[in-house]
Amino acid sequence: MAMLVTADWVVPISRPPIRDGAVLIEHGVIAQIGRLCDFGSLAETVPTRVDLPGCTVMPGLVNAHTHLSLTAMEGLLEPADFEVWLPRLVSAMRAWEPGDYAASATLGARRCLEAGVTVVGDIVYGPEGAAVAADAGLGGTFYWELLGLKAPQLYAELERLEFPAGAEGACGTRVRCGLSPHSAYTSGPGFLRAVHAAAEELSLPVAIHVAESRAEFDLLMHGTGPLADVAARLAPDFEVPGMTPVCYLDRLGVMDGATAVHLCHVSPTDISRLSATIRGAVTCPRSNAFLGNAHPPIGRLLAHALPVGVGTDSAASNHDLDLMSEVRAIHEIDPSIPTSTLLQMATLMGAVALGVEDRFGVLETGMQGDLAAFRLGETIEPEADLVKRAGRDTLAAVCTAGKWRVREGELVAGPDIDSSAEKARARAAEALKSS
Ligand SMILES: [Zn+2]
Repeated sequence: MAMLVTADWVVPISRPPIRDGAVLIEHGVIAQIGRLCDFGSLAETVPTRVDLPGCTVMPGLVNAHTHLSLTAMEGLLEPADFEVWLPRLVSAMRAWEPGDYAASATLGARRCLEAGVTVVGDIVYGPEGAAVAADAGLGGTFYWELLGLKAPQLYAELERLEFPAGAEGACGTRVRCGLSPHSAYTSGPGFLRAVHAAAEELSLPVAIHVAESRAEFDLLMHGTGPLADVAARLAPDFEVPGMTPVCYLDRLGVMDGATAVHLCHVSPTDISRLSATIRGAVTCPRSNAFLGNAHPPIGRLLAHALPVGVGTDSAASNHDLDLMSEVRAIHEIDPSIPTSTLLQMATLMGAVALGVEDRFGVLETGMQGDLAAFRLGETIEPEADLVKRAGRDTLAAVCTAGKWRVREGELVAGPDIDSSAEKARARAAEALKSS
């Protein structure tokens, strides 16, 4: 079934913005894009036509690092230094029952759609998180989190966590499944290598938190700081390497083709190493501010031709999951990054970092029919105005694979939220009160 979507501006990301643009979606996939006047008689004869006057349309946004299963924590944890925040998060998570994660992920999927996000790089703790997000229409890469284990336990753990066999396509064509060994301080060197080897063998994407906090840097460099205890408990065989987190992981050989999330504490040498090895980087600027982490050198990462996606991280370390607010935070940190690059970071570069750029991130023929439309009104600079004003407040419409999820700013086919997310939130709040 064919649908033609028209708008004041269409911003394909892969080429300059198109005034009075149109996108034709057939069977969930983009069949044609261009100026409306170039569509000829099709503009009148197409079975479904949706006009979005006053709107600027872009690809569905890519939230390249999040933990949707923690969304019910939103507003519960106060900003604090990483090492203060982490045990509080763990105590809140301990209060949760198994079903709470799926309820929380459902809420997270809704928050994504409300922000114009249709693609995620999500850390999951089992199959439910990926299933509810995919049901809500989200695509992207779902990384099964693994930590605190020894190498020989890997395959049994994947089985226990119901990691899909033949992961590619197991959750539908819009979703990839991958692995996340969490970090250098929660997985020992043997386990990190085992995850890397399994990912290579099964052609799975890998994401890892790297150089996020000062505490992580101090542990790896000097064996000091509050994460030393965490490493002793969770990272079997860990020995203080006396080098930066990037250098350590690179020497282990586990950065090859991986997605490096955060990179707040990196040296120029680290960046050179990364540019030769990783698939891409992801930055989460408001989460960094929330947790007192340094700002990563985004300009330098980009200058090394590294794709840098943008993520909100979880609702436990952010005020909301509004991806365009992250983009504005990057603009504030480094105003020299051009607006067109900022928009690429929120779309195409995120898709590259997640290994799904063959389906998402730009509006071109053959890509998934994922659109986000923002009501910006009359504009002659659609890219600059998207950076300035696109977000939850200006969101007009969202479709995923040609199916409308948001119309007139309201969710029309999103995940239903029942009381279970509220109950999960209450359990977490109670645990935090007594911790
Ligand atoms: Zn994270």
